[in-house]
Amino acid sequence: MFTRRTSLHILRDILSLSMVTKAELATIANLSHRLASNYISFLEERYLMGRKTVGDVTYWHVTPKGTAALGRLTETMQLLGIDSLDKSKHQSASCILWGQVKDRMEKGQRKIIDLSVSISSQRDELVPVKIKYIGHHKAAMTTARHHGLEITAFPNRQHAASETITLGSHAGTHMDAPSIFGDTSGGKPAKTIDEIPLEWCLSDGVVLDFTKKQWGESISAEDVQEQLRIINYELKPLDIVLIRTDSSKHLDKPGWRNMHPGMSREATLWLIEQGVKVMGIDAFSWDRPLATMVDECKKGVKGKLFAAHYVGREKEYCHIEKMVNLDLIPKPYGFKVAVFPVKIEKGSGAWVRAVAIIDS
Ligand SMILES: [Zn+2]
Repeated sequence: MFTRRTSLHILRDILSLSMVTKAELATIANLSHRLASNYISFLEERYLMGRKTVGDVTYWHVTPKGTAALGRLTETMQLLGIDSLDKSKHQSASCILWGQVKDRMEKGQRKIIDLSVSISSQRDELVPVKIKYIGHHKAAMTTARHHGLEITAFPNRQHAASETITLGSHAGTHMDAPSIFGDTSGGKPAKTIDEIPLEWCLSDGVVLDFTKKQWGESISAEDVQEQLRIINYELKPLDIVLIRTDSSKHLDKPGWRNMHPGMSREATLWLIEQGVKVMGIDAFSWDRPLATMVDECKKGVKGKLFAAHYVGREKEYCHIEKMVNLDLIPKPYGFKVAVFPVKIEKGSGAWVRAVAIIDS
């Protein structure tokens, strides 16, 4: 075993060189190759071991690791008994600092993927969206008149622009609150959108790929379980499950509303039983297309019309519809999803700026 003191001696020697070979490391440590490897493992836990191979020789350099790396330099200097860096050590110190900056940059890299569509009057919606744009000049005129001012009181005769919008609460990318399904959920008053716990809306995300499913087809509980097996992931409470169908690639095309597979009652129930409270789909509806369900209903099939939506009457959950860009999320899990709905008093649903947050 290494004593702390031995380790520090070795580390001091390593730090006095900007680069050492693996063989040199063994020599410095005066250890067998196996022990040197053990020591490297110890260092790798705490330090970034830079590696560069030139010909047959592997070079290493050592920089403190982690987001607290800058603090780690001082700590390292204290541990090593270095009060100030002399000239011979300066090269390695700048190497360490460079490593810290790079380390911080890499660790701090965050990518946010927009999973929402814009609210637009051009989009096919159940309630047509109307947006009246009030421009800067008009705003200046109206405000000047209201306050008895000359329009010249406003620089460039311009004031604050705004928009007056008419739209349904289920326009664009939106979340359905349990109260959309009925007055009660599991025998209790169903939560309205302003009552959704915020903890439900920012959590670990999981994308399940159902792009092979045909339009009109149903996604079963077994299908969901199979996809989880494929990606080797076990759901935990409050995971936000995203159902990828790629239907959103046909967004705004005529007939888009019916161009998607849909979740079944069983699959929805199963997700809720795993503790999932928020789930989303990149399609017009959580259920199968309305045309498919209506057709079945007319043929006498019972209990399939909005069967997945109506699960919410028995067990509390929310789903998000009309998501986009699920295909841009680079991994099936290991990212966060934020889906905070706008707080509409007693609303059955509300618009969501849904995003996936990918931290490197
Ligand atoms: Zn809805």
